[in-house]
Amino acid sequence: MRDDHAFDTTAVHAGERRPGPEGSVVFPIYPGTVYAPADGDGYGDIRYPRLSSTPSQVYLHDKLAELEGAHTAIATSSGMAAITTSLLSVLRAGDHLIAGDVLYGGTAGFLSHFAERFGWTYTLVDPGRPDTWEAARTPRTRAFLVESITNPLVRVGRLAEVAEFCREHGLVSIIDNTFASPVNFRPLAAGFDLCVHSATKYLGGHSDLVAGCVAGVEDLMGEVRTSLNYLGGSLDPYVGFLLARGLKTLSVRVRAQNDNALALASFLADHPRVAEVHYPGLPSHPDHGHASELMDGFGGMLSLRLHGGAEAAETLLKSVTIPASGPSLGGVESLVTRPVTTSHAALTREEREAAGVTDDLVRVSCGIESSADLIADFRQALEVV
Ligand SMILES: *Cc1c(COP(=O)(O)O)cnc(C)c1O
Repeated sequence: MRDDHAFDTTAVHAGERRPGPEGSVVFPIYPGTVYAPADGDGYGDIRYPRLSSTPSQVYLHDKLAELEGAHTAIATSSGMAAITTSLLSVLRAGDHLIAGDVLYGGTAGFLSHFAERFGWTYTLVDPGRPDTWEAARTPRTRAFLVESITNPLVRVGRLAEVAEFCREHGLVSIIDNTFASPVNFRPLAAGFDLCVHSATKYLGGHSDLVAGCVAGVEDLMGEVRTSLNYLGGSLDPYVGFLLARGLKTLSVRVRAQNDNALALASFLADHPRVAEVHYPGLPSHPDHGHASELMDGFGGMLSLRLHGGAEAAETLLKSVTIPASGPSLGGVESLVTRPVTTSHAALTREEREAAGVTDDLVRVSCGIESSADLIADFRQALEVV
């Protein structure tokens, strides 16, 4: 990011070419798979979509890098491609990983299905309890993976301490920043080595594309790029075009989502039918203190429990009229879901309860609608639960 520009300006202008190709202010889609080599070009100069080196891809990478304040960023075909490619580029057979104990289901599933096959071991720790991390470290520990805001209880770990712990012990710090987005939290500035995203969520922002990205320090990004070239999870230029378009409005969208989530969480916290509200922007949230120091905003995700259990939760989902009912998150439209039936359905009851995912938990992904309309909608829905 240019130091003299605020994030809002960067979000619009990062990576843009002036003048653009043929004078176009909007960077075009280059779908081509074949490019003539220039005199003296070597293998490293080949422009080919799987090698993430075609003009539309390079344009998008410049935009992503500037938004993350990174030397380099690379787009991937999904958030999972970003996570798996990053882990495969950092970990060797025999290595050990420390990871947060509440991970996105796909990430947790990847580790439980594949770690052993790749010869990795891992230990899960509470990212909010730095006093427990040293006991998890082994001589083969190579990396520490956390999420900036967890799903669905929206916990914020001791992220500055994670980066510090990794620096002290020579570990690679990796963070999944999907829930916070770079509008609210910029991990590289906070000392992380690699930042991954599901761009399917806030970065794309319109629930109409699947993509991911990895941003980070130069030497590690070289490994990530090499791994991605072989593993094949590069991003198609058509989808990349939609992602670049979404990024231009990232800042206004996420700020509106922050505002809506805070307004809705505050309303819900005072409502007699609501038993619990989880939102890091509320002073009652256990992580509010350090989250306020780390983040510029608390994100668009919140969760709640009602007096009346799972049945009341289901009635709430059916009675709200503005939010659609469905998993996923981060789009301009508000969404409601019961994680027990969607994101956490694959877990056993024991695993869910350990993660605080009770049957009656409702998760809300706030969109950019009017906060007054959203509050009025939840108010009328809570009348009938
Ligand atoms: C959705 C999500 C992912 C996976 O992203 P895909 O784009 O679906 O592959 C990873 N991490 C988090 C936190 C997510 O919400």
